[in-house]
Amino acid sequence: MKKMALHWKILIGMVLGILFGLLMTSFDWGQGFVSDWIKPIGSIFVKLLKLIAVPLILASLVKGISDLKDISKFKNIGLKTISIYIGTTVIAISIGLLLVNVVQPGNGISEETITKLTNTYANNSGVQAKIAEASKQISSGPLQFLEDMVPDNAMKAMSENKLMLQVIFFTIFLGISMLLIGEERAKPLKDFFDSMNDVVLKMVDLIMLSAPIAVFALLANVVVSSDDPDILIALLWYALTVVGGLLLMIVFYCILVGVITKKNPFWFLKELSPAQLLAFSTSSSAATLPVTMERVEEHIGVDKEVSSFVLPVGATINMDGTSLYQAVAAVFIAQALSFDLTFADQLTIILTALLASIGSAAVPGAGMVMLVIVLESVGFPPEKLAIGLALIFAVDRPLDMLRTVINVTGDATVSMLVAKSVGKLGDPHVEEWDDNYDAV
Ligand code: ASP
Repeated sequence: MKKMALHWKILIGMVLGILFGLLMTSFDWGQGFVSDWIKPIGSIFVKLLKLIAVPLILASLVKGISDLKDISKFKNIGLKTISIYIGTTVIAISIGLLLVNVVQPGNGISEETITKLTNTYANNSGVQAKIAEASKQISSGPLQFLEDMVPDNAMKAMSENKLMLQVIFFTIFLGISMLLIGEERAKPLKDFFDSMNDVVLKMVDLIMLSAPIAVFALLANVVVSSDDPDILIALLWYALTVVGGLLLMIVFYCILVGVITKKNPFWFLKELSPAQLLAFSTSSSAATLPVTMERVEEHIGVDKEVSSFVLPVGATINMDGTSLYQAVAAVFIAQALSFDLTFADQLTIILTALLASIGSAAVPGAGMVMLVIVLESVGFPPEKLAIGLALIFAVDRPLDMLRTVINVTGDATVSMLVAKSVGKLGDPHVEEWDDNYDAV
């Protein structure tokens, strides 16, 4: 067991978690036993990962910027990152739109299923909460996102996970000011952050020791809380359209990695796999971020100067899987409820899904909140929103797990592309795959 590679241990944990969840459900013990005794193990693990996200962003971004020695390099990395992020997201949305228009999963769904889904989920508290959350966002002005990015209190920004962009803003400001006062005067602070960076990476190692058990708990809980399989089967074509699009994105990333960075795409996927498996188990790119950073820096060889900026920004604003899902889900709902979408509406979806994925929080289920905004942008009647969301609610969790894997893979791919373009893609520090996180 000690020699087994980490991704295998996590996979075994996942499979056992699913089997255990199924067993519990068949004994009808599901909710009670699992939520009292198993779920907390997974929740503690996710909390630990979130706990170290802010110190890690802070230490690694300060280190990354102050190692640059020259601000113009940072501008270069920043511009490249944002443009590639926008490019990959637009491609993801276009793939989603193409597939949903070809497969037309919404046209095959019967009136009876629509009524059943509406009766079951339209008044569900989860659906109503997402609509309420979206309307809060819609009522804000066009520059609200810029205003939201600037913190008025650094400590407050660090204390709330959803304020990640504010932490990034503060850290970049700090790092640039350190560059400006010169190497000598900034040295004590830089040494402090360098050391903190090493310590936090060690904390990631320690937390990851419990990953196989934690994913067992997380997946057992997902299985016992999932819906009636009949409903899942009724939505099979819709789910398959999303999954097909997500798979095409993986192929697209592999082509980018192979052609542009000249690295073996299978090696890339293998090295990144612990982060992907955690993204799947937690449905949160924010919770996965520390592990994504560790994998990309230590195992894939992207220099901190690049990864420390590209990855935290990406976890917050680059969500290729989410934007693809939003495009497919919006058109699926329109098809099922016979709401005609013109070509111009589909172009509007490209733009709003891009903005919506930027605005989606990196937490479970956030993509569905912003879907409401995509639907509203094409004139979908507000009174039918609850029915629209009810149609896709039952399969949202499994699709969320998968789209989060794509979100994380997209960020890692872009970090490699940017690193390659600025000559910062080196050899990984840890060459052997079968390292065991022998942290203790
Ligand atoms: N769960 C996704 C993430 O954290 C966001 C979403 O699509 O709901 O990346």
